[in-house]
Amino acid sequence: MVKIITSTQELEEVRLNEKGPVGFVPTMGNLHSGHISLLERALSEFEIVYFSIFVNPKQFGPNEDFNRYPRTLEADVNQIERCAQRFPNSRIMIYAPKSTEEVFPISKGHSVSVLGLSSILEGSIRPGHFDGMATVVLRLFELIKPTRAYFGLKDYQQLAIIKQMVRDLALPIEIIGMPIIRDTEGLALSSRNQYLSPGQKKASLILFESLSELKKIIAGKRKNIPLAQKRISEMLQDKNWNYLELRDAVSLSSSIEESKELTLLAVYQLGATRLLDNMQMEIE
Ligand code: AMP
Repeated sequence: MVKIITSTQELEEVRLNEKGPVGFVPTMGNLHSGHISLLERALSEFEIVYFSIFVNPKQFGPNEDFNRYPRTLEADVNQIERCAQRFPNSRIMIYAPKSTEEVFPISKGHSVSVLGLSSILEGSIRPGHFDGMATVVLRLFELIKPTRAYFGLKDYQQLAIIKQMVRDLALPIEIIGMPIIRDTEGLALSSRNQYLSPGQKKASLILFESLSELKKIIAGKRKNIPLAQKRISEMLQDKNWNYLELRDAVSLSSSIEESKELTLLAVYQLGATRLLDNMQMEIE
């Protein structure tokens, strides 16, 4: 069963009358297989799953794509209904607030800042982005009170920030990070991929290829890290990279001498479209 809830009052009423644990998948809609993989995992673990669809203005900068971000609610609901057919005993509650005021009744009420992690990498290029994201996620957590919430590794820094917020505020929520779903050529699925021209789509493949090459160079061995760093400097000659960095997979620090798990974090920009990707590896 799929139910659509468009007001926060209704959400609170419905939630109050439910017993038992619930799973939660927050999204901005315009769904693709990446989002659906999160939903499937949640449905395999919970009978009741909340799925939010909300393009959160607080996480867009003044010159970003908030107005043109694809809003495709009808098609999204169809995809969710198709997925629901595979889980006949489940209940999916789609929370698709009809206005921003439903989510943020007091527009200047508060802001959540996970200090440190929010100002590096993506945060240094998009100031305020992660505060807007953490603010909406905490608000949704408060309304839905999920047992577990599912996020894609696609937005690796976002996931690290959410985990930190949950630890810092001792929220009783388990955060699950889910693998990146890619197209057949390796490009990570993203709602923003549709902005790419055919030429840009071809050029975008360098992103996954570069990450894969670097992981292969490191091959799980600390002694190979300098070789990878050298290769990164060569790659960065291409000015389309916003950044391409090797970091500690947990702290996102660039001091990686002791790190047991590393992550490559990258943004490759084609025209106005910034493509995010990342890849993790364990080090012996
Ligand atoms: P968004 O709607 O872009 O805010 O994404 C909602 C959730 O889906 C986030 O947790 C994303 O990390 C996740 N997600 C987006 N793209 C992918 C993908 N290609 N594979 C796995 N998860 C994804």
